Amino acid sequence: MDIIEKLQILTDAAKYDVSCSSSNSSRKNKGGLGSADPAGICHSWSEDGRCISLLKILFTNKCIYNCDYCINRRENLQKRAEFSPEEVAYLTINFYKRNYIEGLFLSSGVIRSPDYTMERLIEVAKILRFKENFNGYIHMKSIPGCSEELIKELGNLVDRMSINIELPTSRSLALLAPDKSYNKILSPMKYISEESEKNISDRRKYKNAPKFVRAGQTTQMIVGAADESDLTIIDRAEKLYNAFKMKRVYYSAFIPVSTSTLTAKIKTPPLLREHRIYQADFLMRFYGFHSNDLLDLSNPYFDLKLDPKINWAIEHIERFPIEINRATYEELLKVPGFGRTYAKRIINSRKFAALSYDDLRLLKISTKRAANFITVGGVYRGINFSSKEGLKFHLKDNNGFVQMDFLGGRDELYI
Ligand code: SF4
Repeated sequence: MDIIEKLQILTDAAKYDVSCSSSNSSRKNKGGLGSADPAGICHSWSEDGRCISLLKILFTNKCIYNCDYCINRRENLQKRAEFSPEEVAYLTINFYKRNYIEGLFLSSGVIRSPDYTMERLIEVAKILRFKENFNGYIHMKSIPGCSEELIKELGNLVDRMSINIELPTSRSLALLAPDKSYNKILSPMKYISEESEKNISDRRKYKNAPKFVRAGQTTQMIVGAADESDLTIIDRAEKLYNAFKMKRVYYSAFIPVSTSTLTAKIKTPPLLREHRIYQADFLMRFYGFHSNDLLDLSNPYFDLKLDPKINWAIEHIERFPIEINRATYEELLKVPGFGRTYAKRIINSRKFAALSYDDLRLLKISTKRAANFITVGGVYRGINFSSKEGLKFHLKDNNGFVQMDFLGGRDELYI
C-alpha cells in the first residue's frame, strides 16, 4: 500500500477523535476555494493561545482492543493501514514546508501491546525533533496501559499529551471497552500531572531541563454511548479538571459507526446534548459554577431547550435581581447576558461613581438579556412575572428555545 492510500485511510480514521479541538465540519466545497469537509487538518491552540493547524492522523487503525464505540475496533471489518515512523515524519515535514500545517496530532490503535505502540510513537517524535530538527507543535496520545518510563520519554518530546477517558464511569468503561480500565487511564493522567508539577520546580533549579508536556494534557468523553446522565458527565469532568489540572475535557456525541450490538439502538448522535454539556463545561471553567450548581440528582439532565446559565438563573430566581453597583465580580458573572468582559467593565467603572442605565450604554454594556436579573441604581427594567414558568415562556424564541449564546464582549463566545 502506498503512502497516499495510507494517508487517506488514517486521516479518515482519526476524525472521530475530538481531543485536539476542531475537526472537520460539514461544509462542502461547491466549486469554490477550500473545503472543511475532508478530515486531515484540524486546529488547536498553542501554549501562548495562537490557533494552529495540525496534521491529524492515526499511526495505525489496526487495534487489538475491541472498544464498542470505536470504528477501529478489532471486530469491525474495514481496510487497515499502518505508517512507519519515517512516513509520519516525512508527511509532517512536507506538509509543514508547504505551509499546510504548523504541527502534528498523532493518535493510534493499539498494536501488539501498549508499550510497543508507545515506542513507535516515541520514534516518530524523535525523528521529528532530532533528525528533522522540527520545533513545531506536537500533540500525541498516550496509550492506556503503557509504562511510566515511556510516558516520561514522550512527554519530554511533545507539547501536549492526551489520554481519552472515553466514558464517565468505570462501570460503562468495563461494559463498552472491556480491554481498558479506569486505573489504566487515571494513573497515567495522575503521573502526567505530577511530573508536570515536578518539572516546574526542576526548571526553576536547572534552566536547561526539558519541558515536560508544556501545553498540558487533555481528554475526551463520549456523550450518549452509555446511559449516564449529564450530571455524571459534568461531575466527572469537574473532577478531572481539579485532580489532574486538565487543560480541556472535550466531548464527543456518540456516532454510531461500529457494528456492536450494545450500541446498536443509538441511531443519531446527540449533538444538542453535547452542545449543552460544552456550555456547562465553559461555565465551570470560567464562570465559577460547579457541576452540582447546574444539575442535581432530582434533575440530572439539561433541558435541551434551555441554555444552562439561564436555566440556573431561573431556578435560582430568588437571588435576583441583583444591584450591579453592589454585586461582586462572581455575582455579576452569574447574570445571564453578562460575561467576563462586562463584569470587569462594571467593576472598574463603578469605582468612580454609581452606574446608571445611561452609563451602561456609554460603556457599551447591553442589558437586553440581563434586564430580568438586574437593577441599576435601584431601577428594574425587566418584565413582571409571577412564576419561573412565566419567565421561561417570556424568554422563549419562536422555536421554544431560550438561548444566551452570546454573553457580551469579545471573549464571551459561549460554545
Ligand atoms: S483502543 Fe479502543 S478506542 Fe482506541 S483504537 Fe482501539 S478500539 Fe478504538
